[in-house]
Amino acid sequence: MIASRIWPARDYTRLTIESKAELKYEMFAVKDPDRLVLDLETDVTPALAELDGKVAADDPYIKGLRLARNRPGIVRVVLDLKAEVKPQAFTLSPVAEYGYRLVLDIHPLVALDPLAQLIEQGTKPETPAAPTVARLATIVIDAGHGGEDPGAIGRRGTREKNVTLMIAKRLKALIDAEPNMRAVLTRDGDYFLPLNTRVDKARQVRADLLVSIHADSFKRSNARGSSVFALSERRATSEMARLLAQRENEADLIGGVNLKGRDSYVTQTLLDLSQTATIDYSLRLGSSVLQRLGSVAELHKARVEQASFAVLKAHDVPSILVETAFISNPQEEKRLNDRAYQDKLARAILDGIRDYVARQPPRPASPMALR
Ligand SMILES: [Zn+2]
Repeated sequence: MIASRIWPARDYTRLTIESKAELKYEMFAVKDPDRLVLDLETDVTPALAELDGKVAADDPYIKGLRLARNRPGIVRVVLDLKAEVKPQAFTLSPVAEYGYRLVLDIHPLVALDPLAQLIEQGTKPETPAAPTVARLATIVIDAGHGGEDPGAIGRRGTREKNVTLMIAKRLKALIDAEPNMRAVLTRDGDYFLPLNTRVDKARQVRADLLVSIHADSFKRSNARGSSVFALSERRATSEMARLLAQRENEADLIGGVNLKGRDSYVTQTLLDLSQTATIDYSLRLGSSVLQRLGSVAELHKARVEQASFAVLKAHDVPSILVETAFISNPQEEKRLNDRAYQDKLARAILDGIRDYVARQPPRPASPMALR
């Protein structure tokens, strides 16, 4: 056993047990009171025993956890639940820094409705619009990576997932302060979200725009500056963009997605003809944001690049991915940790979004269009 982790979140709580060899297990649910039982073919090790103290008091789904040797060679982990849940256990092969992982995802019985969350999170409910006032533009802000997926890691140990969340939260506050916009975060804590779940959330709240926030890394530590990306239906506009999309799409492998029962959403949407129009709008949004970023940061690329980023594949939501800076560059890593600089970046992105919203007549199909 190498390590054990619990990632509590409202979306779902994940429990991970990492080991040197694949762990055999059996899982079953018990009612009255609701419990989950995980029988592991192993012995009690320190890394496993640690699980005991790792349940957060405010975990939305797990009340407590007990583990003990059940019979020779079998350790029984019992999770006392706060409510009936939809559990899902699966194993992952070694990837990146990780060994074998046994993952137990504890989802709520009824999946959270992002629209209801929006109303709850949002400081601004939809108000009956005056005839001359357009509807509120809903901007989805996606903090890249999270949970099991740290994203890129700087030399001082800064994790991309933490920096992206801080900038995303700052940007949300700024957008919510605008009279004609409101923002929704795809994740508001440190937990993993599959790329297609991020896309689905944007679609479910009928987002007008999606902005995915990242902080790049490169093997040369002097690589620097901000860049903005949109989806490409075919080839990437550069080798750099292609490699970056490949790296960002690996988030699902590292974060750990249960491949069983996954729908083919991404393949389907690529056949959608509206994608071409959406990309056109994404490029305009990207240019506006890039231009504003240029006033607070050096630009790594002077134009919006395109590649096949999975998180940008909502076929009806203009979407961009912003690499705010290179976390692999020691100077930029330092700045990314600086609250004032995070604020500058968030403000530049806000200005870019504002420019786009002001200039761009809403598409007839867009929920932004006048009712
Ligand atoms: Zn990233």
